[in-house]
Amino acid sequence: MTRVRLRCMPVFQTLFAFSIAIASHVCAAQSKLAPRFGDLVRVQAPVADFAPSPAQENVIGISLRLERSFAARRDKVFGLWTDPHAVAKWFLPPEQAHWAEPPRFEARPGGRFSLRLVSREEFYDLHGTFREVHSPEKLVLNWQWDKDSPLAGSPGNTEVTVEFFAQSGKTRVVLTQFGFQNDESRGQYERGWSRCFREMDNLLAAVPAESITRWKEFIRVSSPVVALEHATVIDGTGAPAKQEQTIVIAGGRIAALGPSGSVDIPASAERVNLAGYTALPGLVGMHDHLFYVSNFFHIDELLAHDMPFSFPRLYLANGVTTIRTTGTFEPYTDLEIKKAVDDGTLIGPKIHVTGPYITGEGYPLIQLYKITGPEDARRMVEYWAREGATSFKLYTDVTRAEAKAAIDEAHRWGLTITGHLGSIGFREAAELGIDDLEHGLWVDTEFASDKQPDVDPPDYDASAVDMDINGEAIQSMIKTLVDHHVAVTSTMVALEQLALGRPGPSQQVLDALSESARKMYEMDQKMMAEDSLREKERFERDTRMLQKEMEFERAFVRAGGLLLGGTDAVIKAAIAGFGDLRELELLVEAGFTTEQAIQISSLNGAQFLKEASRIGSLEVGKQADIMIVKGDPAKNIEDIENVELVFKDGVGYDSKKLIASVKGQVGIH
Ligand SMILES: [Zn+2]
Repeated sequence: MTRVRLRCMPVFQTLFAFSIAIASHVCAAQSKLAPRFGDLVRVQAPVADFAPSPAQENVIGISLRLERSFAARRDKVFGLWTDPHAVAKWFLPPEQAHWAEPPRFEARPGGRFSLRLVSREEFYDLHGTFREVHSPEKLVLNWQWDKDSPLAGSPGNTEVTVEFFAQSGKTRVVLTQFGFQNDESRGQYERGWSRCFREMDNLLAAVPAESITRWKEFIRVSSPVVALEHATVIDGTGAPAKQEQTIVIAGGRIAALGPSGSVDIPASAERVNLAGYTALPGLVGMHDHLFYVSNFFHIDELLAHDMPFSFPRLYLANGVTTIRTTGTFEPYTDLEIKKAVDDGTLIGPKIHVTGPYITGEGYPLIQLYKITGPEDARRMVEYWAREGATSFKLYTDVTRAEAKAAIDEAHRWGLTITGHLGSIGFREAAELGIDDLEHGLWVDTEFASDKQPDVDPPDYDASAVDMDINGEAIQSMIKTLVDHHVAVTSTMVALEQLALGRPGPSQQVLDALSESARKMYEMDQKMMAEDSLREKERFERDTRMLQKEMEFERAFVRAGGLLLGGTDAVIKAAIAGFGDLRELELLVEAGFTTEQAIQISSLNGAQFLKEASRIGSLEVGKQADIMIVKGDPAKNIEDIENVELVFKDGVGYDSKKLIASVKGQVGIH
């Protein structure tokens, strides 16, 4: 049984709560144990049907209680549970199952609900009644499985109570469910409901009307219907730029897109003439921290602090409409920033929060917890998954056993895990099941001559600098990553900080820095110039590594790998938003076309986040997350820096005003 269950775990991870029981059934039916399926049903039958053994005596007492806070008003959150169209969106993970017929969800006392779906070619029918409906405070649902249903098992005919508490514009939801027969089943439901909650959170993410009034000085376009006319469009799919296009935005979404003249413009539309401008999808920054590093001269005393006011604004101002935070020193601050952006009390991009770095003793960062072993790594993932992290990141000092424990736990929650690795090589990590690798070849230690298992080699970075990208060793590493569907996040901006002879930051970037951050940057530049004479070899190596990294990333994409755009712009004059634009320039320098670079930094990230049906490209039906730049980046990539207007869910923010509002603030808050 254990083997069967373990083999089926990937099904559990992504299916919604109720199909977890389905998955057990599917596994059992497909396995050699199928003839014994009767036993399985009996074991999972309602409690009253079998004589309690001592261990099962208090099974009736096993219940589940989940609490989540949503950055939306109570009637909106309640509406997600009563509108069958909304239920259809959050109940089912599209990649795992589809509806056999539209769900019926009659939220009135005594009303029926019916959810009929197909998962892995098996048909499932689940239904029940609403016992209580108090709009918008409370729902009580009775789940009554069909007698014939394979789901007449754990947790049996069950009752789910959902209560909605209004809290100054936000909503706290408390869900309780009774009747679990063991902790394992309870845990499966907890993870399933958590997936539903994350999906609801994504569905609710839209700028609340109140915040448009609150932030009107930064908002240039807020009409419900907008027509962006005569624009050049780079749509994010990799397709060549198209001239003379018109985009119609309605209700926060792209309602129409096509050659100007062929698109009907509603009479009510606010018309914006974009002749001479290019419209691109809002960027999806996949290594976009919310912290800035201070005190970076002394590695032993390095500190990083969240920039809740300047960084979210700078991301949005530079066209980044979605970020993954990819590691944090202040996880609760990251989570609170996300909520504040969602409820409109801060201006910023849509945020996917990564848990705190998972690492052991090694790199001496005082703000990081050091794990003590595999179980501790697992526990840390579980804790932060409950708190709202939607991805995880392994750091430079973890053993393979610790990494495996963290990876498996993240996957159990249906979440992804990436790594900035040191003690583990890329091939090892791919085989352990990691989903993504940060920074690229630059930090892969597996080619270091002094690499010991589970240990970050002393001279850790750029060990592949003089290797041939087309050689057997690197090609086989790339093949391993592609075969295991491991993405790579490009952060050439961070690597560029170490290289010599690279262009400096623009005046606009320097102006965003606080006085002390700017002084630190200038001091660092001076020191770097001196060091580069003394430690010529090291600096030349990092400079060569940037070129090697470019070659690697092209080879990885050529081999079919999913390359994501990130920045890691958290230090000196590499900062939020501006770094993302610089990254695009570096991708083009690496040999990608502008259209490919945009795709890497938008649609690829959306795909990795499983958000591609909503964001990542300019396509009809998607959320209107659009950056508008002056000029044509397909002809001249540097035009990408001329961001003028950034739409998030159809609301257009004035880029220059946002940047001006945080002048001199980076490094302070
Ligand atoms: Zn980073």
